[in-house]
Amino acid sequence: MKMTAPAEYRANATPLNFPEIGRNKIQSILLRRVLSMGIASQIPMLIGAALMGFAVIGTGTEKLMWSLIAVQCVLQCIVAIISSMLRRKLDENQPGRYLFVIFVGLETLTGAVWGLMMLPVAEVLGHGLGPLFVCITLIVTITISALMPAAVRVISIAAVTGFFVALFPQTLYFYHILGPLPLVATLVLPPTLFWMTDVHSKQVRAALVNELENERLALYLEDALQQSEYLARHDSLTGLLNRRAFQSKLKALRHEQPDAAISLILIDLDHFKSINDQFGHETGDAVLVSTADIINSVTRPDDLSARCDEATARWGGEEFIIALVGCPIEAAASVSELLRVRIAAQADPQWPDGLSVTGSFGVSLWDHQEDLAVGIAQADKAMYRAKISGRNQIELAA
Ligand code: GH3
Ligand code: MG
Ligand code: MG
Repeated sequence: MKMTAPAEYRANATPLNFPEIGRNKIQSILLRRVLSMGIASQIPMLIGAALMGFAVIGTGTEKLMWSLIAVQCVLQCIVAIISSMLRRKLDENQPGRYLFVIFVGLETLTGAVWGLMMLPVAEVLGHGLGPLFVCITLIVTITISALMPAAVRVISIAAVTGFFVALFPQTLYFYHILGPLPLVATLVLPPTLFWMTDVHSKQVRAALVNELENERLALYLEDALQQSEYLARHDSLTGLLNRRAFQSKLKALRHEQPDAAISLILIDLDHFKSINDQFGHETGDAVLVSTADIINSVTRPDDLSARCDEATARWGGEEFIIALVGCPIEAAASVSELLRVRIAAQADPQWPDGLSVTGSFGVSLWDHQEDLAVGIAQADKAMYRAKISGRNQIELAA
């Protein structure tokens, strides 16, 4: 098992160089948001329409008005169905182009039906409050219909265009009754609404881009935090814990199991300086990584007859330390022997000929009443004895 630091945790020298957020992505999110407004957004308008129906009572055109309201209700139901089908497609990341075209077409039709609602009152506009109420309600309705989906501007444009196409001929046809004012108002309304929807759509887009960039930044920072947490706790060459992380892990292990026997194994590679001098620093690094892999594999509980919890660290340059929790010193000596043999037998086809690696071991039992530094000092003394006695061997602390 390779224990070098994972590539994704390596420090990145050019952070925050994000590519621009794609137009398609923005468009798709905005459309999803517009679609998720659902039929609830149409209810206030339909209530307005129903009130318009009552307002025309007595004008003799109430039948036409109620029929148009009924058509509008049916249209709204179809719009709601198409909208939910389109939303599902978008959720599944499928292109819903045809459904979108149908949806926009239905919005045009909806706008046109709103425009046609002027028909029952066009002739009697100016006679009484009812027709005036209908006229005002229509203008308010089309303004709301245009502004609500303005994030996807083509929907707004479709609704306003449908409204204009249905209303404009009426102002011409009834010109002799209505005079120029409704005609001018009808001509002024679409550009005004297009301008309002343009401003609104730009604001919504800018807010969304901001939101997406913040999301991306939050993810980046989370990632960077994980990287720095990893780098603060691990040795970047071997991926083992560093000295500080080892000490705090041991404190935690001791806290969890205050009376457990904790054995410490300190390993120092023999004549490592001459490996560097003879074969180069890179080869020396490769030896350190390979040794860390061996230490990590041998100290896994699977390799032991009795289960031991472990903490392994790079203690210094070519020194490693292992803590085996719940392990008497004799079992730790067996682990050390296994490690000694494997370290001495390690080889890599890419390594130069004549490279041999051995290590000297010092093993101690950390008395739970003593400081960790005392246990480590005892292991260090034992390791020093192993050096003096000829290296590539194990010594137990007295
Ligand atoms: P001894 O058998 O007595 O332990 O001898 P030694 O040569 O192993 O011990 P010494 O303390 O004299 O030398 C340790 C060497 O380890 C010196 C240093 O350059 C080397 N070293 C420390 N860290 C690294 C590293 O990250 N990479 C490499 N390649 N060498 C390192
Ligand atoms: Mg040393
Ligand atoms: Mg050494």
